[in-house]
Amino acid sequence: MTQKSNFELIKSSKRLVVKVGSKLLVDETDGKIRESWLNSLCEDIARWKATAQELIIVSSGAIALGRRYLNLRSGDLKLEEKQAAAAAGMVRLAHAYHESLSKYNLSVAQILLTLNDSEDRRRYLNARSTINTLLSVSAVPLINENDTIATDEIRFGDNDRLAARVATMVSADLLILLSNIDGLYTSDPKEENAAQLVPLITEVTPEIEAMAGDIVSVDSSGGMPTKLAAAKQCLSAACKMVISEGMDEYPLKRLEDGANCSWFLPSSNPQTSRKLWIAGSLQSCGSIKVDAGATAALKDGSSLLPAGVLEVSGSFQRGDAITILDEKGIEIGRGLSAYSYADASKIKGHKTDEIASLLGFIGRLEMIHRDDLVIF
Ligand code: GLU
Repeated sequence: MTQKSNFELIKSSKRLVVKVGSKLLVDETDGKIRESWLNSLCEDIARWKATAQELIIVSSGAIALGRRYLNLRSGDLKLEEKQAAAAAGMVRLAHAYHESLSKYNLSVAQILLTLNDSEDRRRYLNARSTINTLLSVSAVPLINENDTIATDEIRFGDNDRLAARVATMVSADLLILLSNIDGLYTSDPKEENAAQLVPLITEVTPEIEAMAGDIVSVDSSGGMPTKLAAAKQCLSAACKMVISEGMDEYPLKRLEDGANCSWFLPSSNPQTSRKLWIAGSLQSCGSIKVDAGATAALKDGSSLLPAGVLEVSGSFQRGDAITILDEKGIEIGRGLSAYSYADASKIKGHKTDEIASLLGFIGRLEMIHRDDLVIF
C-alpha cells in the first residue's frame, strides 16, 4: 500500500492534470456524450478548484464523437478519416465541456497541440505560457491533440503521453489518468484470476513494462503501454501520476475517497528535477552578464529582468539555454531565455516598461523567468 492516502497525495498537489479517456466521455452504444457523467466530473473539478487547486483537462473523445456524427464506417479508420472525425468531434467535445463547466461558473478554454508544438522549444514555451495565463485567470484549459493536422509522423497518437507532456510542461504536481481500468495489474485481469493490482510504482522497470498488455480499442489509442510511457515521463520530471477507474460518476471524488488505483510516485520533488534538467541536460547557446544588484536578486530567487543585464553574447533563440555570469564573468547559473539574442541585446539595461517600444511587440516581463532558472 502507499504510505500516504489518495486524499493526502491529491491534496498535497497544487497543479493537477486530469486525462479523460474516450470511453468515459462517449457512450459506446450511441456515440453520444455521457452528459450526466461529465456533469459529475465537472462538479468534482469545481470542488477542487474551490480549494485553490489548479486543474487542466486533457480530454480524448473527438474522434469517437466525430465518427458517428459524420457516419463514418465502424472499425479502424484511415488517418484522413480520423482527421475529419476529429474536426467534427472537437466542436462537440469543447461544447459539452463548456456546458458542463459553466453550470459551476467555470470558464473553459480549448488548446489543441501537436507533437511539434511540444518538441520545438519556442512553441513549447508559448503553449506553456498560455496555459499559465489561463490558470492565473482561473479558467480550465481543455487540451487535446490537434488530430486534424497531425499526421502519423508528428502525432502523439494517444492522449496518455500528451497528458504527461502537458503535465511536465506546466510543472504539474499530479497527473490523473481516468481510465476504464483501475490501474496496472500483474497480468491481464480479464484473462487471469490471479492478476493483482499494483498499488505503488516508483520506477517503470522492464518487469513493470512486462505486466502491461497491448490492448488498444477502436476509438481510443491508449492502453497500458502508453500509460507506462506517460508514467516514465512524469517520474523523470518528478510529477506524481495515478491510473484510476473513471467510468462511474464523480470519478475524482471516488479516487479521493480511496478507490483502488495505481500510484506512480517520484522520489524527488518537481522543482529539483526541473532545475536539474535546466542545469544539466541542455547545452548553453550564449551568455548574459548581470550587475551586482541582479546577482543578489537572482540568489534570492527572483527572475532576471532586462534592467540588470550588462552584456549579452552568443547566438540563441527564445527558449534556448544560456549561462548567467556575474560582473566578474563567473558563471552563477543557467536558464532558458525568454528572448532571442537579437531582442535581448536591444532590451538589456532597460526597464521592463520600455520593452514594447524597443522591440515593437509586448514581450515577457522577465529576460529569464525564475521557473526557467537555476542559480548555483
Ligand atoms: N485525440 C484523440 C481524440 O480526441 C484521442 C486519442 C486517445 O484516445 O488517446 O479522439
